[in-house]
Amino acid sequence: MNEKEILNPGWAAQTAQEGHSAQQRSPASSRPASERKDPLVIAIANQKGGVAKTTTVVSLGGALSNLGKEVLVIDLDAQANLTLALGKDPARLRGAITDVLFHSATLLSVSRETSIPGLDLVPSNSEMDLAERFLPVRKDYENILQHIFNDELRPQMINSQQPPNGSRASASFERNFPVIEYDYVILDCPPFMGAVTLNALVAADLLIIPTQPEYFSAHALRTMMAVIRQVRGQHNPQLAYRILITLFDKRNRIHRQVQEQINQAFGVSVFDAVIGLDTKLRESAIEGVPISHLKIPGGSSRSALQYEALAQEIIRYDWQAH
Ligand code: ADP
Ligand code: MG
Repeated sequence: MNEKEILNPGWAAQTAQEGHSAQQRSPASSRPASERKDPLVIAIANQKGGVAKTTTVVSLGGALSNLGKEVLVIDLDAQANLTLALGKDPARLRGAITDVLFHSATLLSVSRETSIPGLDLVPSNSEMDLAERFLPVRKDYENILQHIFNDELRPQMINSQQPPNGSRASASFERNFPVIEYDYVILDCPPFMGAVTLNALVAADLLIIPTQPEYFSAHALRTMMAVIRQVRGQHNPQLAYRILITLFDKRNRIHRQVQEQINQAFGVSVFDAVIGLDTKLRESAIEGVPISHLKIPGGSSRSALQYEALAQEIIRYDWQAH
């Protein structure tokens, strides 16, 4: 498949048949204009795989929507683990994040409702590998996602009418916005620092770096700090970051030591919430629901409570930042 085919995939007319598009539901919130604010955009990234990035996107999304927030989660990984973890089959969905990045669809037209009220998903599929290859060919490719969010998700920008640089004199500007307002937009990044992750960091207000407390994580954190410096210097001076310790085994001496070192080195940039090992998280991915919504005899699992504590910290952070 070449770029031209991506730009004209011819699926748009069929999307309506699938139903469940987030665009088709009634507006989730009808707050007066004066009370609207832009969503907090959170990128979850670490160039290491298996550190619970996707698990954190799903679990945090579930916890925030449980607390009454409107949340959009966006799958940016070609492996589409987030899409799968929310019970959707990437091969059977028409319209995905790739179509949005190449401007052949709007974000809201490819978003879907999940089984969780208040939690919507923009799915991914294997075509995201092509985005890695073709995005850098474009001028100012680092800002593509940021412009899409400005066009579609930020009421203040939307009300100011003008498409940025005429770059997207697109369908989005001809429609009536906003269709659905979100409080939080959470981005699930692939496990490497390519064009897609760079777009996510340029578009984000807050970067969360899930980190397993092992010795080799220190190296990954150093690399992430260099990336943050570069993104702040060149594209997004406001980018904030927080480290989230995941897969923590409190009986493991090494884990406790590394946790201590991370806390000493990064201070307030480490979340108080710590996510412990919990096999229920695997079960919830198989069931296709966030841990907060997994039916467990006797109440919530430990990690559900830990992700809820993380959600509370983020709500407090958001309140201070805005
Ligand atoms: P990433 O997106 O960073 O590659 P994932 O979220 O896919 O990582 O997690 C990798 C694996 O670890 C998955 O099988 C997931 O179910 C499991 N996992 C994630 N967090 C936990 C946890 N706190 N306890 C136990 N298993 C976990
Ligand atoms: Mg992942």
